[in-house]
Amino acid sequence: MKCPYCGKLDNKVLDSRMSRENSAIRRRRICLFCKHRFTTYEKVEEQTPMLIKNDGRREMYSREKLKRGILMAAQKRPIAISTIDAFIEDLERKLQESNYKEIPTSEIGERVVDFLKKLDPVAYIRFASVYRNYTLEDFDREVKGIYMTLRHHEPASHRLKQ
Ligand SMILES: [Zn+2]
Repeated sequence: MKCPYCGKLDNKVLDSRMSRENSAIRRRRICLFCKHRFTTYEKVEEQTPMLIKNDGRREMYSREKLKRGILMAAQKRPIAISTIDAFIEDLERKLQESNYKEIPTSEIGERVVDFLKKLDPVAYIRFASVYRNYTLEDFDREVKGIYMTLRHHEPASHRLKQ
């Protein structure tokens, strides 16, 4: 990022925040050479590492795509959109701060899985089944796991009865 006053590249970020539409990051910078302050706007996508898909292909990070996937899993579940937005913002900030140029798509997928797991079992199963490409057997095991947790407090004899 060149200083608009003297053209030098050395500057320090004083403050970062998302723009109102959440599509850009606004950064206040100070030139370390001439000490002028200036503001830059950077697109979220440009500041986020490239994604490496399972088949090795590269893909640009897309907030829209990520949000769509989460919303689909969260359909008709008691999860506020604001909770999802806050999660995405937090995730993006961590990705931007990581300074990685590339990360596997699974890195993001697993974070969404963790997030939903704490929020809602149905949304979690839905997302995990699509994202992890669950086989029927895996799916059955996950559902049984949740079922067992729910029944945890019932007496053992009751559970054994057919
Ligand atoms: Zn300067």
